[in-house]
Amino acid sequence: MLHRATIGDFPRETAGSIFIVRIYTRMQTTLNKTIELSGIGLHSGRTVSMRLVPADIDHGIVFKRVDKEEGKNLIPAKHDLVTDTRLCTMITNEHGANVGTIEHLMAALRGCGVDNVLVEIDAAEVPVMDGSSIAFVQAIDATGIKEQKAARRAIKILKDITVQDGDKWVRLSPSNIPVYKGRIEFAHADIGVQEYALKLINGNFRHDVADCRTFGFLKEAEMLRAAGLGLGGSLENAIILDEHGVMNPEGLRCTDEFIRHKILDAVGDLALAGAVILGTYEGHKAGHALNNAILHALFADDSAWMPVDLHGEIDDSEIVTFTPADRAYGKTIN
Ligand SMILES: [Zn+2]
Repeated sequence: MLHRATIGDFPRETAGSIFIVRIYTRMQTTLNKTIELSGIGLHSGRTVSMRLVPADIDHGIVFKRVDKEEGKNLIPAKHDLVTDTRLCTMITNEHGANVGTIEHLMAALRGCGVDNVLVEIDAAEVPVMDGSSIAFVQAIDATGIKEQKAARRAIKILKDITVQDGDKWVRLSPSNIPVYKGRIEFAHADIGVQEYALKLINGNFRHDVADCRTFGFLKEAEMLRAAGLGLGGSLENAIILDEHGVMNPEGLRCTDEFIRHKILDAVGDLALAGAVILGTYEGHKAGHALNNAILHALFADDSAWMPVDLHGEIDDSEIVTFTPADRAYGKTIN
């Protein structure tokens, strides 16, 4: 089992007697240079090649299917292009070009504070890697991040918004820093009830959730396989449980890896807002569908949010400084 603090070490800064932590940087960022990655697609079982290409200010995260017709192959990572949330989060453009299993890559980009990237990919799914975000985070850290000459955009939550499906729910509420809280309840003895809260500041994503893997049950994996899905799935890229326990010979990376992965998913799914969410996310038995539904509910209510330009630094009183941005900008990210 890993000791969480050994995954990475991000120095905190002190300014006089005031303890300063950073929400990454106050400026928008892109990558220093292009990252090339390849790996297996979870559902197709095929090898997928992907390039993360630096992009301009206000470009956002946009996927490009290089195996599709030029001019019809761009898919912006936006919540209103989500077309499937059953097994992963999939987005599809108006020409039918799609890409799935985007959430762990989106989480890595948001978690590392990367705003503007063109993701060139030659298949309909992002490589699953080890089932977590850590391979993407390590590649981003190895390449480095470049600040750009524009303030980082954020969406400030002004009031509580909740979406519910039976006993599952997701809520966004006002707070001065981005916080992600989750709770899961599984009858399986190795999972049980787990809760976790992540402040999305100061490199916490890297330390605390980035290496936490997706998980599933052997019975479900067999059903998926019979349906021609999950062909690339294995103990190499997911935690698999049967009735006796965790089947992976190496065991878990931490005892609450399951809820930490759910938090990772939420960071990735909420990144489809197109900007930092300045508020608290709470997910109770939540999944990709509710994570998408909460963004639709948020942007349907003009009184629930305002676009701001982040100044990025917070002190120990956790006050973030920001300036209101043009509402019209907010509309373009909706
Ligand atoms: Zn996931």
